[in-house]
Amino acid sequence: MDLTIAEFVFLILFGTCGFILACSWISRRLRAQAETRSLARRVVCRLCLHAFENSGSGQIVDCPQCGAANERGRSRKLG
Ligand SMILES: [Zn+2]
Repeated sequence: MDLTIAEFVFLILFGTCGFILACSWISRRLRAQAETRSLARRVVCRLCLHAFENSGSGQIVDCPQCGAANERGRSRKLG
């Protein structure tokens, strides 16, 4: 098939735009995923409000600052 210069340039521009959009979409997805994961690990102490990350699987985590037992997953809003 014959491509004119204009069509060729258009294709390149279109491809580049699509590529950039795809890259930004992927990076946004990855960042949102990492954020969600770190939010799920984050615990805010109900006693001293010290925020820390805990990668364990237990439901109760001890605050490294004051040693109080905190229930995981209840630190978001009401709690
Ligand atoms: Zn604490």
